Amino acid sequence: MQAKFDLSGQVAIVTGAAQGMGESFAVQLAAAGARVVVADINDALGTAVAERIGEGAMFVHHDVTSRAEWDAVIAAAEERWGPVSILVNNAGIAVWGSMETVDEAEARKMLDVDLMGVLIGMQAVIPTMRRAGHGSIVNIASVASMKGTEGLTVYSAAKWAVRGMTKCAALELGADNIRVNAVHPGMIATAMTVDMPDPQGQPIKRKGGPDEVGNTVLFLASDASSYTTGCDFVVDGGMTIGV
Ligand code: NAP
Repeated sequence: MQAKFDLSGQVAIVTGAAQGMGESFAVQLAAAGARVVVADINDALGTAVAERIGEGAMFVHHDVTSRAEWDAVIAAAEERWGPVSILVNNAGIAVWGSMETVDEAEARKMLDVDLMGVLIGMQAVIPTMRRAGHGSIVNIASVASMKGTEGLTVYSAAKWAVRGMTKCAALELGADNIRVNAVHPGMIATAMTVDMPDPQGQPIKRKGGPDEVGNTVLFLASDASSYTTGCDFVVDGGMTIGV
């Protein structure tokens, strides 16, 4: 079957790509012709994903909270395939709990991964995208950046911040031919939602598949979205209609 979007010659990094949505994004980007770095802190699962994709992929251990590890993963990609033109900032963690009692250390960790990880990732990738002559950064936020969610105060704070940073970064990076967009998944079937029932209060009463979000990521990574930057793309089965 012909790929919907042609990413031949492009080099991509997907964070948190050892499982869940990140794994799907890596597989879909590779199927569209991109060379893909599967980046994650989970070495065993990440290596398996890269091996399954084949020669168009490699695994690199990468913690999004470390600027040194960002520089290392970008250097590894560039050394093997050339400048990076696609970054999917996907890695994220979610800890549920009431705002009143949320543990401060846990809150800071969530902000470090979900907010700072995206910021320093965007900072780190700018030079290599300039060398590529173009770039597309896709930040995976959440419907939690569109509304309040009981029990998700800190996660929500981070995801609203990602949404805001996406628009500011798009303004700053347009002159460099780098586009920055945000994708907001609803409830998607991954380890993060494994204990949750299918959502009933929305038009499409099931969890989404990671590949259903990946189709939007592919669009944003490709030239098919060449006139689109600073935008929000909601993939949520209608969860946020009316918000
Ligand atoms: P997932 O299945 O839990 O996978 C996330 C991956 O990121 C895991 O392999 C995890 O490793 C890794 N990771 C955790 N901390 C990391 C770090 N500091 N640096 C690099 N990698 C790290 O998650 P998912 O459900 O696919 O979610 C992907 C993204 O979508 C997240 O940003 C999430 O907030 C967002 N999202 C998810 C949903 C949903 O319904 N699933 C909805 C809206 C938004 P370990 O397992 O070893 O920790």
